[in-house]
Amino acid sequence: MTLSLPMCAIDFTDDAMSSEELAIAERISELKEQLGDDLLILGHHYQRDQIVMHADLLGDSFLLSELAAKSKAKNIVFCGVHFMAESADILTSDEQRVILPNMRAGCSMADMAALNEVEIAWEEILQKTGLRDPAAANEGDSCLIPVTYMNSSAALKDFCGRHGGIVCTSSNAAGVLEWAYERAGQKGAVLFFPDQHLGRNTGISMGIPLDQMATWTPNERKDEVEWEQIRKSKLILWHGFCSVHKRFTVQQIEEFRNNNPNGIVVVHPECTKDVVNAADANGSTEFIRRFVAQQEAGSHIAVGTEINMVARLNATHEELEIECLEPTICPCSTMYMIHPAYLLDVLERLVEGEIPNQIVVEKEVQSGAKLALDRMLAIRK
Ligand code: SF4
Repeated sequence: MTLSLPMCAIDFTDDAMSSEELAIAERISELKEQLGDDLLILGHHYQRDQIVMHADLLGDSFLLSELAAKSKAKNIVFCGVHFMAESADILTSDEQRVILPNMRAGCSMADMAALNEVEIAWEEILQKTGLRDPAAANEGDSCLIPVTYMNSSAALKDFCGRHGGIVCTSSNAAGVLEWAYERAGQKGAVLFFPDQHLGRNTGISMGIPLDQMATWTPNERKDEVEWEQIRKSKLILWHGFCSVHKRFTVQQIEEFRNNNPNGIVVVHPECTKDVVNAADANGSTEFIRRFVAQQEAGSHIAVGTEINMVARLNATHEELEIECLEPTICPCSTMYMIHPAYLLDVLERLVEGEIPNQIVVEKEVQSGAKLALDRMLAIRK
């Protein structure tokens, strides 16, 4: 088994942990013992091994939101990024506290769709297309349904809830779009944000032609040709993207195939459509985990997603040869902000009776956001 580790990535082996890192890991384990059932640590797949080793549950944003909703723990420490902790706070009870070890751990994609920009786009599109807001529509009207990717602020989830819309993740985006089109009416459309690539790849997989899609760049004046394109589109895609997944290219896939004629390529749908088309399979992080586990022993697989997850897959599957599609890729810089020292700090403060770094979604935003999240959780595909 070989592993292409990036120049900038950490060494994931225990042997490589310094004495300071080992001391931090031991202290975290002690504090976990002390906090007992009052504590639940959730870890996203993109977290480094020195965090994952402490996680009670590991998953993608969809699975973790479900697990948070089912948990009874008083303190949920979310080792992921800000929008995930917000969703966990919305889905858990008032007695539970959601804690983010580093408050600066955001997501550049989520930041690409600000509420005021979405509100401006919404009004403009309704006015220029004649589509109706589902919250104010009559039976038989053609509507614009807002769909936001999980990777967005609670304010945007609330916007979707209040306007008859829904949240999706990369695990359930097709099921969510089907839900939306059932409510949009015959000539209705979906406004999908913030990730254009997940939206476009999902639309293509459902048979929506590219000429019935438009990309929406905020703060940009549109001419009549662009409005005509928007009017005939079933899917209007916000211009956002993931800075990690946009680094994967078709050229990398071709190079991998040239070197490994029987090699297999699997990528995340946050990659561009050309990369998704060139790959053998694409899907959420949970899909990628299952896909890799199903391959025959000896298979050589290139994976187009975040390096911590790829390295962990490689370490877990000794029977396979797994590498990252982009040999020099770095970890997601914001996921990487959850350093073990920050996890240790919040646990120390919890033991002392403090509630550090609590994520509290404002009451006014909670109800609409919960509605949009509950609609998503009711969809099983
Ligand atoms: S991997 Fe991309 S979408 Fe996920 S948290 Fe990092 S920047 Fe955001």
